[in-house]
Amino acid sequence: MIQSHAKKALIIGAEIGGAALALFLKSTGLESEVYEAREQPEASR
Ligand SMILES: Cc1cc2nc3c(=O)[nH]c(=O)nc-3n(C[C@H](O)[C@H](O)[C@H](O)COP(=O)(O)OP(=O)(O)OC[C@H]3O[C@@H](n4cnc5c(N)ncnc54)[C@H](O)[C@@H]3O)c2cc1C
Repeated sequence: MIQSHAKKALIIGAEIGGAALALFLKSTGLESEVYEAREQPEASR
């Protein structure tokens, strides 16, 4: 269980790792913002 006072997590990278982490954090009630250097994640091309 993640215990944190953070209101939002910042995730670097929108590939599978970043997307999976965002979903996991959401399931714990923590919102996140994902930053991606490329215009589109590779998986969506
Ligand atoms: C040629 C090749 C073929 C593969 N084939 C398979 C396969 O068939 N099956 C399989 O299961 N796995 C395969 N893999 C492995 C799979 O691609 C990786 O395990 C998986 O993509 C890792 O995901 P990730 O989210 O951890 O990181 P990555 O996919 O490396 O994503 C990281 C993301 O972070 C972004 N980023 C990096 N630095 C910054 C920054 N400073 N600011 C903002 N964004 C940033 C990058 O642009 C990138 O989009 C393959 C890998 C390669 C190279």
